[in-house]
Amino acid sequence: MPELPEVEVVRRGLERWVAHRTVAEAEVLHPRAVRRHVAGGEDFGQRLRGHRVGVPSRRGKYLWLPLEDTGQSVLAHLGMSGQLLVQPHTAPDEKHLRVRVRFTDALDTELRFVDQRTFGGLSLHDNTPDGLPDVIAHIARDPLDPHFDDEAFHQALRRRRTTVKRALLDQSLISGVGNIYADEALWRARVHYERPTAGFTRPRTQLLLGHVRDVMNAALSQGGTSFDSLYVNVNGESGYFDRSLDAYGREGLPCRRCGTPMRRRAWMNRSSYYCPRCQRAPRVSS
Ligand SMILES: [Zn+2]
Repeated sequence: MPELPEVEVVRRGLERWVAHRTVAEAEVLHPRAVRRHVAGGEDFGQRLRGHRVGVPSRRGKYLWLPLEDTGQSVLAHLGMSGQLLVQPHTAPDEKHLRVRVRFTDALDTELRFVDQRTFGGLSLHDNTPDGLPDVIAHIARDPLDPHFDDEAFHQALRRRRTTVKRALLDQSLISGVGNIYADEALWRARVHYERPTAGFTRPRTQLLLGHVRDVMNAALSQGGTSFDSLYVNVNGESGYFDRSLDAYGREGLPCRRCGTPMRRRAWMNRSSYYCPRCQRAPRVSS
C-alpha cells in the first residue's frame, strides 16, 4: 500500500496537470473500478461531465478531487496496485486501464486510473462542511497538516491504554502513518514499538512526532524529482522510497547506529523491524 509521501507525490502531480480543468468525459472501462458507486459506471461518468476539478486534496493516505460547485468529490482508492496517471491522449491504453477522464481544456492529455488487481477504485461522495468526502470524516489530520494539533495528540496518547506503534497506525489519532514509516520513525526516536503510550512525556511525544515528520519529508524530497514529468505514478517501481530505509526490511542487517543485528517480529499480521539495543523492549508488555 502506498503511504502518505507516495500519495502526496501523486497529489502534487495531479495539482499540476488536472486542477482547474473541466471534465469532458469520464469513461468507465471496468465496472469494478467504480463498484462503490451503486448507480454504476454510466451514472458515474454523467455526474462528472461538465464539472471543473478543484485543487486535489489529501488527508493521510486518502486522495480526492473536488468537483467545483457540486459539493462532491471523487475519492481515489489506490489499493495495492492502483495508479493515477496523466498521459498524452495518444499513448496506447494500459492493459489494466479502468477509468479514463478527458478534459475540455486539455485536449492533449487525459487522466487514467489503472489497476491491475482491481482492489482500488474511484467513488463519488458528498463533502462535509470541512470539504472532506463524508466517508473519511473520521480520519484524523496527518502530521504534515499545518493544523495538526501536537498537544491534542499528546493528550490522546496519554489517555489511551495502547502501545506506541498501534497509536501511530490508528487513523483516528493520526493519519497517514503506515507500517513502514512507523518502524522508521520509532527507530530514529529509539522507541520500542510495544512501549505503552500512557507514560509518554511531552518531550517524548514531540521527539516522536519530529521523527515521523522527518521520515515523511525525506521520502517526499526523494519523490519530488518526478513532479515535473507528465507521468504520475504511485505504485510503480520508482514510486517507493525503499532505498533509504533504516529499519523496515533490514532483519539481520547491522543497525546503522550501533551495528547490532536488526530484528523482525510478527506484529498484528505484519512485521515490526527494530534494533534490540537502541530500542529496548518495555519490561511489562501490554
Ligand atoms: Zn542500534
